[in-house]
Amino acid sequence: MAYTTEQLLTFRATYRRRRRRLLVLFGLVMLASLALLLLYGERNWNIGFAVGVAGLIVLAVIDHRCPACRKYLGSSVAGMLLIRQCPKCGVTLVDQGAA
Ligand SMILES: [Zn+2]
Repeated sequence: MAYTTEQLLTFRATYRRRRRRLLVLFGLVMLASLALLLLYGERNWNIGFAVGVAGLIVLAVIDHRCPACRKYLGSSVAGMLLIRQCPKCGVTLVDQGAA
């Protein structure tokens, strides 16, 4: 399947936006867990953490998809940071050299 340059740029921008949103949410969950730890002590914070992580996984499953073929790209944070191409359709998701 061939895409126009304009489409390819849109795919990259969409992917970048979604990934940034997931990473920001991931950071918020970490901060919220820390806040729970400080507020409630060690007894309850891991429950909040588990709920937050479960929420992130659900969001990643829904949101971490290829903008071109809409296939699921995986929910691991490492995969999110390292993936540069869609493994399903081969569309470039991250520009060479870009973070
Ligand atoms: Zn794809």
